[in-house]
Amino acid sequence: MAGVYKNALRQLEIVRQYLDIEDRVFKRLKKHDRVIVKDLKVKMDNGSKKTFKAYRAQHNNARGPYKGGIRFHPQVSEDEVKALSMWMTWKCSVVGLPYGGSKGGVTVDPKKLSEGELEKLSRAYVRAMAPYFGPQKDVPAPDVNTNAQVMSWMIDEYIKVRSKESGVRSQDQDKLRATFTGKPVEEGGSLGRTEATGMGGFYVLEQLAKKLGLKPEETTVAVQGFGNVGYWFAYLAQRAGFKVIAASDSKGGVWVPEGLNPEKTLECKREKGEIAGCYCVGSVCDLKKGRPISNEKLLELDVDILVPAALEGVITKKNAGKIKAKAIIEMANGPVTPEADKILAKKGIVSVPDILANAGGVTVSYFEWEQNLKGEKWSKKKVFGELKKVMGKAFESVWQRYDDPPSLKLRRGEAKVDMRMAAYTLAVERVVESV
Ligand code: NAD
Repeated sequence: MAGVYKNALRQLEIVRQYLDIEDRVFKRLKKHDRVIVKDLKVKMDNGSKKTFKAYRAQHNNARGPYKGGIRFHPQVSEDEVKALSMWMTWKCSVVGLPYGGSKGGVTVDPKKLSEGELEKLSRAYVRAMAPYFGPQKDVPAPDVNTNAQVMSWMIDEYIKVRSKESGVRSQDQDKLRATFTGKPVEEGGSLGRTEATGMGGFYVLEQLAKKLGLKPEETTVAVQGFGNVGYWFAYLAQRAGFKVIAASDSKGGVWVPEGLNPEKTLECKREKGEIAGCYCVGSVCDLKKGRPISNEKLLELDVDILVPAALEGVITKKNAGKIKAKAIIEMANGPVTPEADKILAKKGIVSVPDILANAGGVTVSYFEWEQNLKGEKWSKKKVFGELKKVMGKAFESVWQRYDDPPSLKLRRGEAKVDMRMAAYTLAVERVVESV
């Protein structure tokens, strides 16, 4: 991800061509409010001390407290967290959440740590960053290689630090839990967080299909990536009548022309350790029902909707010309490169950008924060109902701008914008209004 911040800045420069932004405000958007870099010293199991670089980039809080995940990965760098935190500002804004953007991480390969070392590292991160965190300051969440368990250690450490500093009363501790989201449900986490990102994407699919005049039972879908996001997307799409005809994981994919059963496929994948060979239709998995397909070929299938839900940069200038789908829903972060974007636009392929399509996760994180602050516990039904409202409204606003830019007084309103630019101009415009 080297130089990725440059890309984020370049993207912002392009957005500026469509909007009137004063120089003073634009300077603020380009610059981060704060980038914190710390050395974390951790005692390892063998008695040695190891130092890890830790980061937290807080991009902009004009619309509310900073919000963004913490990742543990060997490639975490200042450049990366700066880019990702800027994208969080736009993501929160486009779905109308009262948050700014942040992102943090530690440069580490967590697979090389014991569980005890991982816990010590998580707690050390919080001790170093605690002054910058808080329910109204900056609200972290899980990201790559961090999960509910890591959040549980982190919130525990955070409450300890704050209690020592200011003697927090026990009744206020519940509100302090709002400092971290993605916690285990029994520790103040929200129901429905697991399904949230896939479900948010599914709500986008429903609306997009209506706009494009596609009936679910006549609409074919291919999903790359069958992890948390890809599975829930596929499951909900199939349940609503869409025909999911292909899915894949890192080891390859399946092509099932009749339409696959995601639940059975997941069961089969769990048994075999991979999705390859899982041709599951209805209640049976049968080798005659499908064929193997590579991840590359899956992207090129003649389907109505293509859903990259695994990695960034999978649709590039090399394969964009071969994409046959009518529309793409970007569930992964950054699956389409800027060069590929131009090729897809020329072919008339509609791409729903990641900042909108995969915002279901951060939206339910916001619900968790709200529940903690108000001392409430929402049912799954309420969480999903509220998520549908947020995603529905966001999709409609972006679609309106995509469909009819001049009515929105874009500076270059005469030119038609693609869905990505529609989403970015809307997001940036809202932040500008609050600066
Ligand atoms: P995950 O680890 O649960 O699943 C990832 C899936 O991708 C797995 O099935 C894996 O086998 C597959 N995969 C890995 N390499 C692949 C390859 N080369 N080709 C095809 N498939 C491959 O992760 P996730 O939480 O489902 O996240 C998927 C994407 O969605 C990521 O880009 C992530 O950043 C993005 N995202 C996730 C969330 C969330 O809430 N989980 C929110 C926003 C964005």
